[in-house]
Amino acid sequence: MLSTQGYAAMTAKAPLQPFSFERREVGPRDILITITHCGICHSDIHQARDEWGGSIFPMVPGHEIVGTVTRVGSAVKTFNIGERAGVGCFVDSCRTCGPCREGSEQYCEAGMLLTYNGRDKDGQPTQGGYSAQIVVDENYVLRIPSALSPAGAAPLLCAGITTYSPLRHWGVGKYHKLAVVGLGGLGHMAIKIAKALGTEVTVLSTSERKRQDAMRLGATDFALTSQAETFTRLQRHFDFILDTVSAPHNYNAYVNLLKTDGTMILVGAPDKPSPLEPFPLILHRRRIAGSVIGGIRETQAMLDFCATHRIESDIEVIPIQQVNEAYERVLKGDVRFRFVIDLASLK
Ligand code: NAP
Ligand code: ZN
Ligand code: ZN
Repeated sequence: MLSTQGYAAMTAKAPLQPFSFERREVGPRDILITITHCGICHSDIHQARDEWGGSIFPMVPGHEIVGTVTRVGSAVKTFNIGERAGVGCFVDSCRTCGPCREGSEQYCEAGMLLTYNGRDKDGQPTQGGYSAQIVVDENYVLRIPSALSPAGAAPLLCAGITTYSPLRHWGVGKYHKLAVVGLGGLGHMAIKIAKALGTEVTVLSTSERKRQDAMRLGATDFALTSQAETFTRLQRHFDFILDTVSAPHNYNAYVNLLKTDGTMILVGAPDKPSPLEPFPLILHRRRIAGSVIGGIRETQAMLDFCATHRIESDIEVIPIQQVNEAYERVLKGDVRFRFVIDLASLK
């Protein structure tokens, strides 16, 4: 076993604290990655606080992982020692079901094995990237293009792919009008990626102070969801809405902003349901859909796309000792736009 240092939530109520744990030995197809950077996703907070239910403790969160390959198993063909590598939200899947075979492992019929807050085949809980090192099967490791900085690339492994995948799946592109609801970690990546796809982006936000940022990131319009005028001015305006909001909110108001046949895509994952009115959907043949991260091949394509378009996340790098303070600041919307932990601070 490999003795590893990290930070863990010991219970749902506890702040994260230093934690020592064991990782599996490097098997023939495994890669040992020394982690240099790990983003803080709002999903880390949801899970560390057991807001979705079923959390496994102690929990080392973190699924936006970038590091350096420091050991490879005897049968590993894809990576060499010293190369940069990334790990996203899952580290294995059944590999045989339809979705796995077509590269949509995130929809694996047996369930993807989450990078943390999951249980490996041996029943052991998986532990994430707020730690010094991780052991992952080579088939679930991403290549980080050299054009991207390791810290700026880390959030692409969740926030990037979570917004890229639905935009590609629904063919969002030129001639489409897209609303991004919520300008946080996911929202700011959605603007950058949609802009690179040639899409006209409007940001719908609760925070007036983010107006300038939205325009700087590439949006062409910004509207406050606290103002009734927004919902009259932008009625039937959008082909697509990408909802990244982390807290329960009224979906119905947004549905009315869709054109006929428009699609509202939920990626934000609040811990409580919201009621849905049928008529705004029925009368304009609108759709509400959902999407979760993306498959391994698609995540690699997203990283390469971001390298080509020089897209990184806007980040604030912190030492791991500030992780609890960072969680509070994420909840207040006080980060432009993603915290990334520098794991050198663990030593
Ligand atoms: P984040 O950085 O905290 O951003 C969320 C944004 O939502 C905030 O910046 C804020 O934007 C808006 N917001 C927050 N509270 C709100 C409220 N009460 N009412 C209206 N708007 C509110 O979080 P994130 O990391 O981007 O994650 C967002 C959500 O996506 C989380 O629920 C996360 O678990 C989920 N997620 C889903 C997937 C997936 O695969 N589907 C992947 C990753 C994350 P404004 O200030 O602009 O209003
Ligand atoms: Zn995430
Ligand atoms: Zn599968």
